[in-house]
Amino acid sequence: MRFADVAAVWADVEAAPGRLEMAGHLAQLLAKAKRAEAQPLVCLCQGVLAPPFMGLELGLGEKLAEQAIALVSGRSEKELENYFKKSGDWGAVAEWALSKKKQTSLGTEELELGGVYNSLVRLAKLSGAGSQDGKIKTLAELLNSASPLEAKYIVRFCVGKLRLGVAEPTILDGLALLRVPNVRDKISGIKSRPDAKGIRIKPLWDYETREKEKALDMEDSDASLDFVFTCDDAARIGALADGSAIWLEVDGFAPLAGIKLQKIRPLKDKPDHYRAQVMGFKKAVRAPLERAFNFCSDLGMVAEYALFDYARIERFKIKLFSPIRPALAERLPDAAAILEKLGPCAVEGKYDGFRLQVHKEGERVELYSRKLERVTAAFPEIVEAARKLPPQHIILEGEALAYSRSEKRYYSFQTTIQRKRKHGVAKMAEELPLHLFAFDLMYADGVDWTTQPYSSRRDALEKLVAGAGAIEPSSLKQVKTASELENFFDHCLKAGLEGIIAKDLNAPYTPGARDWAWIKLKKSYGALADTLDVVIVGYYRGEGARTGFGFGGLLVAVRNEESGHLQTVARVGSGFTEDEMVELEKMLSAVKRKTKPAELESGIEPDFWVEPKYVCTVSADEISLSPQHTAGLANGKGYALRFPRLVQMREDKGPAECTTAAEVEKLYSMQKTRGR
Ligand code: AMP
Repeated sequence: MRFADVAAVWADVEAAPGRLEMAGHLAQLLAKAKRAEAQPLVCLCQGVLAPPFMGLELGLGEKLAEQAIALVSGRSEKELENYFKKSGDWGAVAEWALSKKKQTSLGTEELELGGVYNSLVRLAKLSGAGSQDGKIKTLAELLNSASPLEAKYIVRFCVGKLRLGVAEPTILDGLALLRVPNVRDKISGIKSRPDAKGIRIKPLWDYETREKEKALDMEDSDASLDFVFTCDDAARIGALADGSAIWLEVDGFAPLAGIKLQKIRPLKDKPDHYRAQVMGFKKAVRAPLERAFNFCSDLGMVAEYALFDYARIERFKIKLFSPIRPALAERLPDAAAILEKLGPCAVEGKYDGFRLQVHKEGERVELYSRKLERVTAAFPEIVEAARKLPPQHIILEGEALAYSRSEKRYYSFQTTIQRKRKHGVAKMAEELPLHLFAFDLMYADGVDWTTQPYSSRRDALEKLVAGAGAIEPSSLKQVKTASELENFFDHCLKAGLEGIIAKDLNAPYTPGARDWAWIKLKKSYGALADTLDVVIVGYYRGEGARTGFGFGGLLVAVRNEESGHLQTVARVGSGFTEDEMVELEKMLSAVKRKTKPAELESGIEPDFWVEPKYVCTVSADEISLSPQHTAGLANGKGYALRFPRLVQMREDKGPAECTTAAEVEKLYSMQKTRGR
């Protein structure tokens, strides 16, 4: 595939008004990929070289990019910097400089996707003395063969600011779009239950071609799809109730679940012909892809299988050293609501440390963070304890926390996070030993535990980690009533924990999903049931007493999962210590940008925009509706936090892990029912 084709589609993606259109453009691009190109293409679209757990990062300094552009274009650095002052985008500088190239380059070849990817990987791997020159040279070689548009994207990629706004769900949408016709053309039957005998049908897609195209290509994932089919089993077709859930049988593939069939009507003038509406077809086609991704966090691999070896998507299995996307917790306002939702359930202490996923195969142990980065080197005592666990192969999850066993004292997140340092690990491990409070088991010696109910997983987990030193099971109580739950909640708060997580005894492990399998209840923050993890998108100059700090507050945003955009939810002006203000000014001034990030919707202009990369936890008294903010915007008003204050920075979370607009909406509706 020519890199020029990739760049052209990226330009379309950037100009696309929404996620649906983006997915359409990506699907066109993915359809052209050869097998070896699928993984590189998917990674490049996301602005990365590999999934986070592989630790292959490019971060090339802007100065080096500037030197490479100067070398290839013949422009002086002064000229380039002047253009950068206007545009604030080194990609735009490269595009401009190359379109006005003073020298013509000889013997250049058209760039291929694979070649560009390999050069970028080479760049990422250059390190140590003398690597600066090597990096400039490698980038200059690439730019020398690039068109201005290609150069724009190559440079943006290298300085870590590709920012097409393409997140994982959009790529999954694109892959699903490509599969829809394949699956649709192989529908052969309907089942009313997974184990029932199928009713054979033959869809007649050509009956009304126009409708088919419209329904499948344009509508969103829940769109209905009208179709006509023949079936000579009139009695069984007639017995299907309107709106009932069905399984669609597909020749050569597993049946599709999650579909509803409605408005089944015989055609008047044609015997054995029926018309019906299928709901959720595209979503059902997407589900196996999403499942595979949730189990390996490697979208490039999923894309390769989806496009070239689909059977492997259906049989997708957990893989050691490919982290599982973490299950997430829902919220409810109080103990009574939790009991009503789950009935008798297990309740665990909620530890405020950082989440670790442990993978072990014999002597090899790796630890993965909430962001799915490999963080093994920072936690030698957990690695040591994991090595001693009896199974040869294991995947388990827990919350790591600085903990003094003798005093039975849990340290705060702020203290614990000091352990994420890269230097002085051994000394820190001695001064501030960590404990892993294990709360779930996903895999052990050939058994995939994710499909088992929580109660069985927990039993197995307890047996497995018994006596493992730095790894122990999280605290647990089985409760039948709201007052039992409340008692345990109070007990956890007294012990220094931040609340509880209630767990559905019968639920499987639900990777990547915020599901009702887990429900959290945290100590009270005003009328709100929880704090919010928000992305910093801008900041304000200090005024009055804060002039000296150069810092007066933050503009923060949540993520809208539908559009993939960030939306502002508060201007945070309190909760900072003086040290934090100094620190924040230093941190944020290093990621200042001239213009509003493209993926941000904001009606407010702060003194400085910043790259949306830092996440912090904020609390607030209340959520109100305000025309100022864009979170969940409807009828000209968005959700806004009243009296927001900084609780802490969240180094363990990135923009992909922040609170969503839909969660803010739930918190808003929950505050009405929460006793005030
Ligand atoms: P939150 O980050 O507030 O959405 O809460 C969910 C997080 O709580 C999980 O991602 C875990 O990191 C953490 N956690 C602490 N204790 C537990 C527990 N016992 N079970 C599950 N998650 C826990």
